[in-house]
Formats: sequence, C-alpha cells, structure tokens
Amino acid sequence: MPELPEVEVIRMGLEPHLVGRRLESFYSSGKALRAPVPAKELATLCGRRITAVRRRGKYLLLDLDNGELLVFHLGMTGNLGLFPQGAPRRLHDHLEFLLDDSTLLRYHDPRRFGRVALLATGDESARQVFFRTCGPEPLGGRFTAQWLKEKAKGRKISVKPFIMTSGVVVGIGNIYANESLFAAGIRPQRSVAKITMKEWQQLVECIRKTLQFAIECGGSTISDFRSADQQSGYFQMNFQVYGKAGEPCRRCGRHIEKEVLGGRSSYFCRSCQK
Ligand SMILES: [Zn+2]
Repeated sequence: MPELPEVEVIRMGLEPHLVGRRLESFYSSGKALRAPVPAKELATLCGRRITAVRRRGKYLLLDLDNGELLVFHLGMTGNLGLFPQGAPRRLHDHLEFLLDDSTLLRYHDPRRFGRVALLATGDESARQVFFRTCGPEPLGGRFTAQWLKEKAKGRKISVKPFIMTSGVVVGIGNIYANESLFAAGIRPQRSVAKITMKEWQQLVECIRKTLQFAIECGGSTISDFRSADQQSGYFQMNFQVYGKAGEPCRRCGRHIEKEVLGGRSSYFCRSCQK
C-alpha cells in the first residue's frame, strides 16, 4: 500500500510535467473504484489547466485553473503515471487524461481500492468534509511532541496504532510506524499514557527523519509501487525491522520479534526498544 513517502515521490515526479498543462481529453474504463468514478464530471475538465500538484496526507491534489480540485487516493495498489501519447493501455488502466503536450496521465489500479473525486470551486465545506479526518502533516510545523501529548491525554491505546490514526497525524502506515518506533527506541505495544515528553520529542524527530529518508530513496517498492516515471524506490533496502521477524537486529544482534497489534504486524527489538 502506498504510504506518505510513496505518494510524495509520485507528486514530485508529476509536478514538473503537470503544472501549466491543459487537459485535452478524458478516458474511463467504466469500472468503479472504491466508489463510482464521476466520469461525466471528469470529462467536463477538458480545457482546464493544472495550476499546482499538491499532497495532503495520502491524497494527491491537482488544482485546476477554475478553482476546482481533482483529488486522487491511491488505495492499496493505485498509481498515477505519465506515458507518451499512443502508449498501449494495460489491464487495470482505469482513467486517462491526454495533456496538451501529448503526454498521458494514467491512473492504474489492479485492486480498485483507490478513489477519485472532483471538489467544486470555493466549496470549502465539501473540502472540510472530505479531509475531516486529516490531522497534521508529519513533515509540517503543526506536528510536535506537544500535539502528540495532548492527543494522547486520557487514552491507553498502544503507541503504534495511535500514530497510525489519521486524526493524530496523517500518512503514517504500517511500514513507517514500525521503522520510526525502532528508530525512537519505543516498543510498539507501549501505552501512550506511559510515554514521556522526551520520548514524544524523540518520536517526532524519528518519524520526520524516516519519512524524509524514504522520500530521498524514492519510496519503498513492496508489491508493485512505481513512481510517476515508472521507477522503483529502494527504501526497503534500509528497513531495520519491517518484515524482518527472526532476523538479527542491525543494532544489537538480538532477533527481531513480530506481534500482531490492532490487526497489523508489528516488528520490534526487545533490547533496543523499551
Ligand atoms: Zn536491537
């Protein structure tokens, strides 16, 4: 599943090719994604120019010159890529915009858990409803130890599912939660009630560093992630604990353990994480 770094890598790959381009024509496979595709509305976008390519959590946002916002969520296996005009359509290419420089922007999604939506001009309330569960960006200024401490107040949830809650912080999925907690020396099972201010600070710093490094690596290629220009990422070579049950810890040599927590596989080192 693409997490924040993979979505950011796609955004960075698309931005220089999309900003200023005009949408010329539209194609839909007719298949529904997680929800029905608003194909009629999307077809009305022909003639519009893209003015910005942004990301909010794991949503990719294309701003259009009439103020409308085209929103993509990649779900489990979605990808937005660029192809030359005439490149043969592959199975699972569900949406396609032809741009005025003869490039195709294609949405590919084998499992069809993704989502596409068009948010009307200046409709702030629709935008707020759409993004209502979005907490602060982990790489932004609002994500601080103080914020985490306040959100954890009076709760007894384990720290790993806590940081994977989008109202707490957006975009942290299973891979980067495991890796950040290892980097911070905090066990995934620890109750948020028992985490000190110093540890929250450590965790914020480790989440930022882990995500930034993953973005520099082009994301993690597990299952079939590809960036907008179809490159694989290589952060998975740097996984310290994720998927490494039974292997020696790279820091201390003790074996990495696995435990299911909140339905998700959690990997940790009993010596390095307290
Ligand atoms: Zn260790």
